[in-house]
Amino acid sequence: MWAHNSLCTNHIVLHASREQKAHYLPRLASGETLGAWGLTEPGSGSDAAALRTRAEQRDGGWVLNGSKAFITNASVGGIAVVMARTDPGDRAKGISAFIVERGTKGFSAGRPYRKLGLHASDTAELIFEDARIPAGNLVGERGEGFVQAMKVLEGGRIAMAAMGVGIAQAALDQAVKYMKQRSAFGKTLAEFNGLQGMIAEMATDVEVARLLTLRAAHLKDVGQPAAHAAAMAKLFASEAAMKAATRAVQIHGGAGYITEFPVERIFRDAKLTEIGEGTSEIQRLVIARGILESV
Ligand SMILES: Cc1cc2nc3c(=O)[nH]c(=O)nc-3n(C[C@H](O)[C@H](O)[C@H](O)COP(=O)(O)OP(=O)(O)OC[C@H]3O[C@@H](n4cnc5c(N)ncnc54)[C@H](O)[C@@H]3O)c2cc1C
Repeated sequence: MWAHNSLCTNHIVLHASREQKAHYLPRLASGETLGAWGLTEPGSGSDAAALRTRAEQRDGGWVLNGSKAFITNASVGGIAVVMARTDPGDRAKGISAFIVERGTKGFSAGRPYRKLGLHASDTAELIFEDARIPAGNLVGERGEGFVQAMKVLEGGRIAMAAMGVGIAQAALDQAVKYMKQRSAFGKTLAEFNGLQGMIAEMATDVEVARLLTLRAAHLKDVGQPAAHAAAMAKLFASEAAMKAATRAVQIHGGAGYITEFPVERIFRDAKLTEIGEGTSEIQRLVIARGILESV
């Protein structure tokens, strides 16, 4: 949902032409087609401007060669928005965005990766081997792809922050439920001060994460710059999710380590929120730059 809505569909909403929107959005919005979004490559993740997938103009269209790594919905998506290099010498300014449809000759997905968590989500490579697409599949202007992608990530990071809030809340709920039902030393776990402290911190983190996320979403909704607020929300919510998941497993004791209880899955799923859409280190970089540039 996150990659389909906030990455692929959002890219088309924000940057595509009226004709492209009319052609693709009804299928994406209705759920008839799932969308993927390809920025990351085997050789470039955080340093996205170093991407190497090439798009060359040939016979009135574009020919794509290269590959994308770790792409959500890659093998189940019907439409992908991908960033490719149209001008080799020009780092960020040499990147353009394209819409590529499943079934395009030379365009395929690799085998889904086996992942730590998020097993219900498809993640695979996108592969381009002389994949020919029409000239009309360029999104916006040539050379705008990197700037477009950064704008898309603003919304994507808010969506990822929301995912962090949901995971943290689920970890808290599970921990509270277990503390009320499990007994030790003649008391329920809920009666132990040490565990109460953990619950208090988890609940406070969830609340802060939720408020930061709602603030970033509000700024985006009213059309104000939201990149800084999105990075703060994403950083805090993802780290809150990981912390809450770790504590929820701890509160479950041995039961937290086996697959019968949801906290084991929550713990594995939480980790992605600190990595996808820009790692925590990259969010800190974005936040610090925003502050230092405004002084
Ligand atoms: C399940 C999953 C789904 C994903 N879905 C998508 C998708 O749909 N589309 C897409 O395009 N991508 C997707 N990604 C890719 C994801 O966005 C990248 O993995 C992420 O941005 C990190 O890039 P990297 O893996 O290349 O790590 P690297 O960039 O190699 O980073 C390695 C380490 O170095 C640190 N680092 C790098 N640069 C700096 C710096 N300047 N300062 C400090 N530390 C730094 C990082 O924080 C990290 O700890 C997905 C990844 C996963 C795991």
